[in-house]
Amino acid sequence: MENVADFKEIIDLIKENGGDAFKLCYQCGLCDVVCPWNRVRSFSMRKIVREATFGLTEIESEDIWRCTTCGKCPKACPRDVKQIESGVSLRRIAAEYGVFPAHVRPIRAVGASLKGEGNPLNEDRDKRADWAKGHSVKPFTEDMEILYFPGCYLSYDPRLKKAAQATANILKKANVDFGILGTKENCCGESIRKAGSEELFISLAKENIKTFIDSGVKKILVSSPHCYHTFKNEYPEFMVNFEVVHISQYILELINEGRLELKGEYNKKVTYHDPCYLGRHNGIFSEPRITLNKVPGLQLIEMADSMQDSLCCGGGGGRIWMETPKEERFSDLRVEQAIDIDAEVLATSCPYCITNFEDSRLSLDDSETLEIKDIAEIINEII
Ligand code: SF4
Ligand code: SF4
Repeated sequence: MENVADFKEIIDLIKENGGDAFKLCYQCGLCDVVCPWNRVRSFSMRKIVREATFGLTEIESEDIWRCTTCGKCPKACPRDVKQIESGVSLRRIAAEYGVFPAHVRPIRAVGASLKGEGNPLNEDRDKRADWAKGHSVKPFTEDMEILYFPGCYLSYDPRLKKAAQATANILKKANVDFGILGTKENCCGESIRKAGSEELFISLAKENIKTFIDSGVKKILVSSPHCYHTFKNEYPEFMVNFEVVHISQYILELINEGRLELKGEYNKKVTYHDPCYLGRHNGIFSEPRITLNKVPGLQLIEMADSMQDSLCCGGGGGRIWMETPKEERFSDLRVEQAIDIDAEVLATSCPYCITNFEDSRLSLDDSETLEIKDIAEIINEII
């Protein structure tokens, strides 16, 4: 009897943390058929769901941290089990008890850095706008057309700063009146939320919302699909609605309005990788492709697993901060898919994808075979 009571308590705890939909599952196993993990090792979301339904979840298990929130299985599930939200409920319980398996432990340092400095990279808040030095980027003021919100990785990561600088240059060439928040910008909080730290997400979101309102922000341009997703779909939980546009959409808008002219040529074979949070989660598939097709000389070719079926890079759901053994990296498979079609450039529009692809590229026999580019970097080369 004691055990039954324990299981009931766990079921109630899971329900309180947002996992009520687990009970809808009828164990068809479609989630496991589509999950990218089963290309690199065995993993069963179906099993996680079954155990949670009976209150048998082991919160110290590595498996509850595996999901990258790629969005594939929720699209395939016939019972709307909401595997992402339900799965996050288990992480919330584990995070609350401070139970992290070894490969998940970096999350603790990430949480401390987010709390102290507003970024997950253990960088100083004071240096958040350093990427813009020498690029004549102004602080945002209320009368400006748009706020550019580069996000943490484009602000600090040496590789990704180049994408932020390319974006600023594009905006200047198109005469867009824009500014940045600089040290007042905080991490959007999307990924730490998916890693189970709900309170931290709420505090980051509230700080950002206050800054947006105090600064008179109406329209926000983002470079990260994760910022896009949370500003558009999660911040409205706080009764606010800001207009949000992703750089892959905005570049096309600027070209179509005649504000941005593509003057040069880019004579390369390019393939485009759909980031999960831009494509599957938010339906933005065509704008990046239309933009790339407008580039003179560029030949756009498709890889296997494109658009709705895009193969996750492995970085979502907080996995970008966790350790993944080399032989289990989805990004290695993706880079191979690009090489299989003789692409010279693997283009995308997400800081996590670029980070993972750059890592995978370096492990190729000849790392010069393939370039990894943000769309903004390609456009910046020909304006
Ligand atoms: S696809 Fe949905 S119903 Fe089928 S096993 Fe997975 S969670 Fe259960
Ligand atoms: S959301 Fe993606 S990574 Fe997570 S269990 Fe479903 S298919 Fe697998």
